[in-house]
Amino acid sequence: MHEVNDDSIKLREEVFAYARKRLEYDPAPLDGPQSPAWLKENAGQTISESGIGGHKALEIFSEILAPATISTDHPNYLSFIPSAPTEASKLFDLIVSASAIYGGSWMEGAGAVYAENEVLAWLASEVGLPETAGGVFVQGGTLGNLSALVAARHSAAKKRTDAGIAQPTKWKFICSAEAHSSLKSAAAVMDVEIIKAQVDANGHLRGDSVAAALSEAGDGVFAIVATAGTTNFGIVDKLDEIAAVANQNKIWFHVDGAYGLAGILSPESRHLFAGVEKADSFIVDPHKWLFAPFDACALIYREPKLGHDAHTQHGEYLDTLTDSGDWNPSDYAYNLTRRPRGLPLWFSLATHGVAAYREGVRKNISLARQIADEIKRRPDLELVREPELSVVVFTKHGWNLAKYDAWSAKLLARGEAFVVPSSHLGKPNARFAIVNPRTDLNALIAILDSMNEES
Ligand SMILES: *Cc1c(COP(=O)(O)O)cnc(C)c1O
Repeated sequence: MHEVNDDSIKLREEVFAYARKRLEYDPAPLDGPQSPAWLKENAGQTISESGIGGHKALEIFSEILAPATISTDHPNYLSFIPSAPTEASKLFDLIVSASAIYGGSWMEGAGAVYAENEVLAWLASEVGLPETAGGVFVQGGTLGNLSALVAARHSAAKKRTDAGIAQPTKWKFICSAEAHSSLKSAAAVMDVEIIKAQVDANGHLRGDSVAAALSEAGDGVFAIVATAGTTNFGIVDKLDEIAAVANQNKIWFHVDGAYGLAGILSPESRHLFAGVEKADSFIVDPHKWLFAPFDACALIYREPKLGHDAHTQHGEYLDTLTDSGDWNPSDYAYNLTRRPRGLPLWFSLATHGVAAYREGVRKNISLARQIADEIKRRPDLELVREPELSVVVFTKHGWNLAKYDAWSAKLLARGEAFVVPSSHLGKPNARFAIVNPRTDLNALIAILDSMNEES
């Protein structure tokens, strides 16, 4: 299997050629899903005892499977939270894959871990955490939130043990009613109670609402979670107010900035995040709005030791690593074996410099503002909320979900745009999530125009 022969050299060239073609697309074809039956018929059975050969497998991928897979970095991919990795980050992802390097421990991955830590230190400094802050790149925000909350509970439980106070009958954490679904998931996995505090009319979680939830909650609240950029609207909670409540009550303050915390890079938006520097932990996903490929979430603790205490795994086969006193990334989250997934971002940041990132984020926010203004000028459209970051949500008068669905399917079938409907308070809407520096105003205007076509 590992022999280098003419065939394997030929395959290597074919794979590089295909990778080059993908990188050179401008833009990549949007593509779109096919049914399992269609894929079964067209891709067929690909796994067999003898193998079908790399040439054939690559052909099936490039001709059948890839076209049935959406390119999330198409400039008109505007659904969910898209992804727009820089070319430098994509190129370096190839190198990480070609290198078989292990990112779990210093002993094995020192060089890679050093570079990842440089990026984490930069993120911590942007947020305003002390130089002693640190953490790890995990797979995604879901795992980042879970790992931070596990550390928060571990720390709260230890404080009680140390003080001789009984553990609560049920641990609880407070978050906004508009917080991401991953928090509910974390609560279920951890078997803790999730308390959803009400947001204000514009969707912000505020200090008074958190304080009210806290006094109602009674014993056992181990964390307060604020969202720095909600997924549906890009709304940043009032972090300074929430931090004050958390600090007064000596409760762990976690900031979920999976999508929106990247907005802090734009000098014009920085003020929205005041108070984030008080966080005990925060997350931000490079695969969302830091122009890096899937999948990466930066999880950072004010006091990394608290993450370490909660997450270090112990085993006879691990003692040599654990007892070394080295910085082992695996110790800071619910994970062990890990790809050094922060490296593509490291390479791209090192290549382009931070200023280019500030400008990319600023441009997205400014485009969101421009298209929101255009929406307000159109009498048949209505902005649901003023955008704070780069998500724009609007409705079209007289449209029900079936209308949005039909419009969305038509745009995807034509290869023009991927704009699935979302909803708010039970009412369907259209939503643009803009994280791609190549998304442009004219294309967004054309998408608005397409809502008026006779179907
Ligand atoms: C996307 C998102 C998450 C989950 O992140 P994944 O990387 O998809 O697991 C958590 N919180 C917020 C606010 C998000 O937008």
